Amino acid sequence: MNASIRDRLDRPMRDLRISVTDRCNFRCTYCMPKEMFGNGYAFVPKEELLSNDEMIRLVRLFVRLGVKKIRLTGGEPLLRTKLNELIEQIAAVDGVEDIALTTNGLLLRQYGKGLYDAGLRRLNISLDALTPDVFGRMNGRGIDPARILDHIDFAAQLGFDIKVNMVVQKGVNDAEIIPMADYCKEQKWTLRLIEFMDVGNDNGWSHERVTTKREMLQLLMQEYELEPEEPERFGEVAQYYRYRQSQARIGFIASVSEPFCSSCTRMRLSSEGKLYTCLFASNGFDLRNMMRGGSTNEELLEAIKKVWLQRTDRYSDERTEYAAKERKKIGMSYIGG
Ligand code: SAM
Ligand code: SF4
Ligand code: SF4
Repeated sequence: MNASIRDRLDRPMRDLRISVTDRCNFRCTYCMPKEMFGNGYAFVPKEELLSNDEMIRLVRLFVRLGVKKIRLTGGEPLLRTKLNELIEQIAAVDGVEDIALTTNGLLLRQYGKGLYDAGLRRLNISLDALTPDVFGRMNGRGIDPARILDHIDFAAQLGFDIKVNMVVQKGVNDAEIIPMADYCKEQKWTLRLIEFMDVGNDNGWSHERVTTKREMLQLLMQEYELEPEEPERFGEVAQYYRYRQSQARIGFIASVSEPFCSSCTRMRLSSEGKLYTCLFASNGFDLRNMMRGGSTNEELLEAIKKVWLQRTDRYSDERTEYAAKERKKIGMSYIGG
């Protein structure tokens, strides 16, 4: 077994989130607002993206330093070509205990079977509302929620373990919490309610626009009896509750009101090979340059180790209105959510 290296706050490196592309077919207002990510937006050029071989090489090294869980994200990961091959290769790496993918779901009918056959079993699918107008506005492309529900259904029938992610913004989709909870409970999909975060610098975040976990829970308790569950593992980001007399669960990701930096075990790799120690980082460490410049595995291991050993990030613990607005941060679609 590979022992995890620990950062300056004694947090082990256990998870690696890989953004496989910075492109997306949605323009969610809270992530890639279309006013900022328009036709002229400079996405990472194809030749600058890490190849599958480069990603696998890095995954092997991360596992040697203690990583056990891999999450593929983006941007929209299903837009990446040869994603199935990447998954198959990651699943085959000795030491990878878990691999999951986060997607907006729109291409699941097209690619879901291939992903399943490649060995993927866990999907987090984002859906913010059941009311067409609300969801259409939030995804920035007028996409109807019925389409996503149909894709989720398809994925569930293939045998995937499904979690549904809903970002809640006050005054935008908080009225959708109960309908979404009802629907997901009925389908036995785990709904995870995510507090709206100040990722990047373009999404108009302020504290007043956050519906907190406490507020969401109060609302849900008026409808359901819920019992809290013990966290399954150190570093679990969601707090789960079980519905009484049901097998269904609901979760909260309270990154703003109850931050979990002290147990944050996540390293992030961007699609062009930059390493980030926090979702709210301003700078990354360039591994692609090292790889393409001929660095050996030992040199890469040393570099990754150094980045983690120096890590002191705890942005959400220290979040202030000033930092949320003024600090230069990398966008979530680039760094990987
Ligand atoms: N495109 C995929 C998707 O939407 O599922 C994967 C990438 S997306 C950046 C990953 C997750 O981050 C999604 O569940 C999304 O809703 C969430 N997210 C994006 N911006 C957010 C924000 N400002 N606050 C909270 N969650 C956010
Ligand atoms: Fe795309 Fe996901 Fe960001 Fe929405 S949240 S814009 S689907 S990357
Ligand atoms: Fe981890 Fe940074 Fe989020 Fe804190 S703010 S939980 S350190 S990614």
